[in-house]
Amino acid sequence: MTFVVSDRCIMCKHTDCVEVCPVDCFYEGENMMVIDPDECIDCALCEPECPEESIIHETELDYYDKDKELWLNLNAEFARKWPNRTEMKDSMPTADEYSYYRGFENIKFKYFSPKPAN
Ligand code: SF4
Ligand code: SF4
Repeated sequence: MTFVVSDRCIMCKHTDCVEVCPVDCFYEGENMMVIDPDECIDCALCEPECPEESIIHETELDYYDKDKELWLNLNAEFARKWPNRTEMKDSMPTADEYSYYRGFENIKFKYFSPKPAN
């Protein structure tokens, strides 16, 4: 079992999550993070750290998005393509504007970038 990062992370990327992961399984794209499902040990430490409530257990994905495979596959695919991040950095300058608390929940996927972090 694994946790996955959902689209609530897109354009925010606060990176609080990476500091607590005991196995360093977060990978950084241009505008979101993902979790490697093969490395995640299902410890749940990262879930409460995310200010956007973006980190979801795979068993909860059915409640989040009917296309549950999208998030599992996206995390697995881009964990292999993006660089590993283990230390926190500044949130994206767009974080406040795109926070899901301001109404962007479930519609941020259109902003997803497949590019790796700089
Ligand atoms: S803490 Fe949440 S919003 Fe921040 S990078 Fe991690 S998953 Fe994304
Ligand atoms: S559940 Fe644990 S192992 Fe998995 S990504 Fe979060 S902190 Fe890392």
